[in-house]
This record gives sequence, C-alpha cells and structure tokens, in this order.
Amino acid sequence: MSAVNATEDKFVALVNATTSVDLRLSDFHPRSCLRTPVHHIERARFPVIDYHNHLDSTDPYEVLAIMDQTNVEHCVNITMQTDRTALEIMDRFHNAAPTRFSSIGWMDWSGIDRADFVQLTIDRLERMVEHGAVGIKFWKDLGLTHRDAQGNLLRIDDERFTPIFEACGKLGLPVMFHTADPSAFFEPIDPTNERFEELAAHPDWGFSTASVTKRQLLDQRNRVIARHPEITFVGAHCAESGEDLAYLAEQLDALPNLLIDISARTPELGRQPYSARRFFLKYADRILFGTDLLPELDMYRQYFRFLETDDEYFEYPSHASRQGRWNIYGLYLPDDVLLKVYRENALKLLPKLR
Ligand SMILES: [Zn+2]
Repeated sequence: MSAVNATEDKFVALVNATTSVDLRLSDFHPRSCLRTPVHHIERARFPVIDYHNHLDSTDPYEVLAIMDQTNVEHCVNITMQTDRTALEIMDRFHNAAPTRFSSIGWMDWSGIDRADFVQLTIDRLERMVEHGAVGIKFWKDLGLTHRDAQGNLLRIDDERFTPIFEACGKLGLPVMFHTADPSAFFEPIDPTNERFEELAAHPDWGFSTASVTKRQLLDQRNRVIARHPEITFVGAHCAESGEDLAYLAEQLDALPNLLIDISARTPELGRQPYSARRFFLKYADRILFGTDLLPELDMYRQYFRFLETDDEYFEYPSHASRQGRWNIYGLYLPDDVLLKVYRENALKLLPKLR
C-alpha cells in the first residue's frame, strides 16, 4: 500500500466517524463564515412611531429612556387587559407622557352569552375612548376558540357583531385584527415544518387540527373589512400573510381601508429581501412600523438595521425562542419610504399627534 493511499484511507475513516454521529438538531449551532459589512444603527434615521407593542408590564419612564436613545418618538401600547385594569393602564401611560404614548384596547369577550352583549361591548368601547383609546384589537381567539352558548365556534364575520363594528366607525376607532397565525402553525408539527423547534416547544401554538383553515379565517376577516369601508383596519403582523407577499398585495388592492403592521414579521420579510423591498416601495402608504417586542435598545436597533441598511445575513430581532433557522437581509429603504413607514402612516391613526 502506498503512503498516499494510507493517508486517503485515514481521511475517509475520519469522515465516516464524524458523519455517522447523528447530531441532534438542538445541538447544531453553526457559525456563519461570511464576512460582510455590519452597520450599527444607534438611532433611527427619522422619528419612529412603534404602532404595535405591549407595555402593560413595563414602567413608562423606563420605556421613555429607551425611546429617547433610539429616536422612537411615540409608542402605542396595545393593552392585553380588559375592564378597569385596562383603563388604569391607559391612564398610567397617558399621564406619564401624553404625547409619547397611545393605547389600543383589547376586545373583551366576557359576557358573550348575555343577550345584551353587543350593547355591553359598545358601552365598553365608549369608556375606553373616554380614557383616550385610539383603537381596539381583535385577537386570534375570535375565529379559533371563542364559542357561542350553543357551543358553535364564533365566526369573525358573524353578522351579530356588525353593530359593534358600526360603533367603532362612529367613534372613529381604527380596528386591529390579529387573525390566524404564521402558516407553519397550521401545518402538522413534523420534521418538514419550518418552525418545528418552536412548535415542538409550544405544541399549543399549533392549529393543524383546527376545524377552520388559515385561509378561511383570513377570508372571514376580509369580509368584515369589506363590509365597513368607513373604518380603518390594521392587519397585525403583515395581516398574517407575510409568507406570501403576492397574496398580501392582492388583499391590499382589494381592501383600500386596510393597513398592515410589520411587527414580529422581520423573519418573513427579511428572508425574501427582493420581494419585500419591492413590496415596501409599492405599498409604502399602507405599512406601519411596529415591533411586538418589549422595548430594548438592541431590539429597536435590529429593526432599524433591517429597514435602513443593506447588511446581509444577520439575526432577526426576537426575545424568546427563534422562529425558524434562517437569517435576514436588510432592505435599505429610501428616505421617502422610511418616513412613511416609520411615522407618517401611523400619524393618520393618531389624531392627538397631528
Ligand atoms: Zn402583539
């Protein structure tokens, strides 16, 4: 046997030994060898309105300190509380800094079986507006889990709720819908699921066995939006269509009273940077900046890096579990688009700032 062959044999044996080990997915932490430019954006290029955040558990003054350092001019707290607790939280933020915080209320489903539920809800909406609320949010529980007294799943487009939306229109309240969830959450939790690790850790986030499909839920939501042209609707999280920007564009074209926020969807937008950039340029008037992540310096700076730079292949902002095993690319949006997305579009929904 020649010396060359002996070396080759040793090499093959080494490769076999390494690859025969079944590496567990949770133990796989590859480090990228790419060396590309890295831009640290300390402050956003223009003043920012964070239209989608949840601040109930935070101290307004601590949040203000983070906002001041990152050029976040205004933050909208979508309270996840209802009733008196929600009103107290609204007061707390509005009193701390009336021009820096706004509040969106949370749809209260308690009393759904009462005959006067619609009037009860309208009274609740009026009380929220008295406390300064500038919107109301309907969460994914409508359509997926709430049932009527007969045990039937409530539909989002249930005509019994029409007077509630009419009241929102009369009160000038924008309506935010977080309907359905990422597409992967409606697929079986198996090795082909692109968010397998996240769903394996939180199996209750999966809806693959639900009696409605994601598309049916979005259709129900869109029927309500079409029914009420007098209301501005905000589709949270890219109207849950971030995986399919052609479909999202179709919905925006069909529903002129629909805006979207980009909160928690940098993982979707940033992994399709060519399509996402074209989408931002075309729909610049319809997109709101939002984060859905507790205010932190780094979190905001990662969002700015995504929107402002052409940096490549970096981690998307997230606090908790990663959504999927991929990285994102910056969109280097032009100034006129950034201005609209960061601030001007949201201003139209926040009369007290105008
Ligand atoms: Zn949220």
